[in-house]
Amino acid sequence: MAPPVHITFLGGLGDIGRNCLALEQEGQILLIDCGLMFPDTDMLGVDLVLPDFTWLVERGEDVVGCVVTHGHEDHVGGLSYLLREIEFPIFGTELTIGLAKGRIEESGLLKRTQLNVVADGETWEIGPFDVEFVPATHSVPQGVATAVHTAQGTILHSGDFKIDLTPVDGRLTDLARLGAMADGDGIRLLLADSTNADQPGHARSETSVGKVLYNLMHEQEGRRVIVACFASHIHRVQQLADAAIAFGRKIAPMGRSMRRNITMAREMGLLRIPDTALIDVEEVDRYEPGQVMVLSTGSQGEPMSALTLLASGENRWLSISPDDTVILSSHPIPGNEHAVTKVIDNLYRKGAEVVHSGLSDVHATGHAKAEELKLYHSITKPEWFVPVHGEYHHLVAHAKLAEVMGTPSDHVLIAEDGDRLVLDDKGLRPAGRVPSEYVYVHGTVGDIGTGVLRDRRILADEGVVVAIVTVDRRARRIVAGPEIATRGWIGQPEAGAVLGELEERVRTAVEKAMGEDAELQQVEKAVRRAAGGFVSEKTRRRPMIVPVVLDATGGR
Ligand SMILES: [Zn+2]
Ligand SMILES: [Zn+2]
Repeated sequence: MAPPVHITFLGGLGDIGRNCLALEQEGQILLIDCGLMFPDTDMLGVDLVLPDFTWLVERGEDVVGCVVTHGHEDHVGGLSYLLREIEFPIFGTELTIGLAKGRIEESGLLKRTQLNVVADGETWEIGPFDVEFVPATHSVPQGVATAVHTAQGTILHSGDFKIDLTPVDGRLTDLARLGAMADGDGIRLLLADSTNADQPGHARSETSVGKVLYNLMHEQEGRRVIVACFASHIHRVQQLADAAIAFGRKIAPMGRSMRRNITMAREMGLLRIPDTALIDVEEVDRYEPGQVMVLSTGSQGEPMSALTLLASGENRWLSISPDDTVILSSHPIPGNEHAVTKVIDNLYRKGAEVVHSGLSDVHATGHAKAEELKLYHSITKPEWFVPVHGEYHHLVAHAKLAEVMGTPSDHVLIAEDGDRLVLDDKGLRPAGRVPSEYVYVHGTVGDIGTGVLRDRRILADEGVVVAIVTVDRRARRIVAGPEIATRGWIGQPEAGAVLGELEERVRTAVEKAMGEDAELQQVEKAVRRAAGGFVSEKTRRRPMIVPVVLDATGGR
């Protein structure tokens, strides 16, 4: 009997983001991706969401490395957090490693890892696994599928991909290699991107966006053009630069990550923009509006990004006027729609023309749609299938496609974050769970729990009522108070009478509780109950009630 392989999903199944999974054979663990998720608007004050690394940290000694499939933050953004806990080498293509390196370096953690640059088609021995890197097209260059050759056969992880037959760099998804694997020893288990599984048809090719951008640039002759796109989308940047140069415009990168990625991609030979075509954003005003294209970050309406600041008139370098056309060469990722709409509104208020994906084909998705996924299944012919990278309904849609393409339904498993599966001689089945809570990152302090977040939500929605009272427990009487302080619960004009009544209600409750010779904690509980009851009956609201009971005789 060959040794079993365990697959543990730590993130990315049930939500888009924080992709991370672990393959384990003979006690050695290989990670595929280690990403972060950007918070929903109801995650108040949260900067980032990470996978729960509890299990990995416990097994830290056994981690032989992490393969990163491409350079998006939902795949590499968690590395700098996991590296604080455990040390391991990282494997990826040149650009992927370049993009991943930024955060790791900023966190001063480069010495805790070893960055290994792999080339297309290479196979690396990592722990007990032979890991083969197969080119895949996506919305960042140099993405790969990962074929992990294990004791239980080949586990193919698609990475994020679409089947772009005319990519900007001509580097195609290597379907021939995947087919050869399938026809050789076969693909035992496929794990594949589900993001667009519920979208019919094919994703548009990236080069088709180039044509749209070229025509737009033509139409905008004489006007200043400001374009926002993902800074990692080097091929989009290339096509924008080509269009700008074709109409005699200089390119002014704006925003830290845009400037950094353009420099890095040019050094790697992945981006061809001549020196003479690039100018500093500070120099923009020296040129006629029709002679520049500003290339900006902030296509997702991120609060502190260059475009958002521009729209609200707070950008250091530029201000928007009716001479400007702003192109959002992107599509809001779920959860960002509102922020993006706000930016668009603010740009219109300043008189600019705005072109976005709702009006024109200025963007193409990086994820395969249903017909491409069917093609992928027809080529890889997996024995077992688990959909990954998607919200739950995406996973379900992808599972159905797999069945349509001939994988029997009892060989298709839908797993969620925290699920552990085992693949052995008998096949694939569930094998328990590991911790998989959201880990919230707030500032540099580290993680905060769900309790803190629940409190923030109550404070944001309902406000807070603090009742302070000092008692003499021996004499069983109130020495001072009750005093009520409140924020965010009730407006000043109405407050007077209601607060008086509330004080009375709390006083009665405290006196009653002390008559029963209660501990301070019991008195606090009585205050909370009395205040909470009164507040909800008077205003039909449930603010946070904070009772503060002090003992005048000392000690609490
Ligand atoms: Zn992704
Ligand atoms: Zn991606």
